Amino acid sequence: MRLDDKVAFVTGAASGIGKRIAQVYAGAGAAVAVADLDPRGAEAVASALRAKGTRALAVAVDVTDEAGVDAAVARTVAELGGLDVLVSNAGIQIVAPLTEFGFADWKKLLAVHLDGAFLSARAAMRRMIASGRGGSIIFMGSVHSKEASVLKAPYVSAKHGLEGLAKVVAKEGAAHGVRANVICPGFVRTPLVDRQIPEQARALGLSEADVVAKVMLKDTVDGQFTTVDDVAQVALFFASFPSNALTGQSLVVSHGWFMQ
Ligand code: NAD
Repeated sequence: MRLDDKVAFVTGAASGIGKRIAQVYAGAGAAVAVADLDPRGAEAVASALRAKGTRALAVAVDVTDEAGVDAAVARTVAELGGLDVLVSNAGIQIVAPLTEFGFADWKKLLAVHLDGAFLSARAAMRRMIASGRGGSIIFMGSVHSKEASVLKAPYVSAKHGLEGLAKVVAKEGAAHGVRANVICPGFVRTPLVDRQIPEQARALGLSEADVVAKVMLKDTVDGQFTTVDDVAQVALFFASFPSNALTGQSLVVSHGWFMQ
């Protein structure tokens, strides 16, 4: 699974899953735009990649900002010479019972996950069609694209929504060789999850150990967290797959928490 001569744009790549995808893509030969709201984090990831010989660019971007996303993709094309792979991965989490969920928090979460995915995919797809090279668009879903959990109304809604978006991109992109797929990870120990553990413990009246064992990993086959590398290997598979045969799909990587 190689990505030589390919250019990838990975959002939310300063941390967690996105950071590992950027590293794995670089290891597979891609040039990588490390796009994130956090400019210092993005630069740290990109400069570490450059030190290993990868053509890597740090791009400061808020994925909810239309002009900002368009500019970030344009800069990537100009500086790295094209765009072949988008990983729309930037995300946040806010947990609360639905009856207490603030409307502003609902809108903020949907904006990052759904507006961000739409804007990133639109900008990438325009370039992939214009170049005549096609490409691979990958959305970071979740087991919450398939299942619901308490306290996560907007997150579950957004992650389900990404599956619909990917199917439309797959249909509209097909004639141009643009593929779209969704990765659905189980719980991965990243800053996003580490912040959630004490919040869920408070909201559910459980110890933090019980949140991990009885909430997060309860339905896995082996009580294990999924790792950033597990997710990055699936991202590499989708990015390097050579034809439209694999499009409009979602792949769950979750230690069997959800089984198709
Ligand atoms: P993380 O907090 O480690 O990283 C998220 C990154 O997104 C951060 O670098 C952050 O700065 C960036 N970001 C946030 N808002 C942004 C914005 N508006 N514009 C640009 N960048 C922004 O989280 P993670 O766990 O690596 O999550 C990455 C993705 O994986 C998210 O979409 C998340 O929903 C999804 N996911 C995570 C898990 C998990 O258990 N960690 C499971 C399933 C899916």
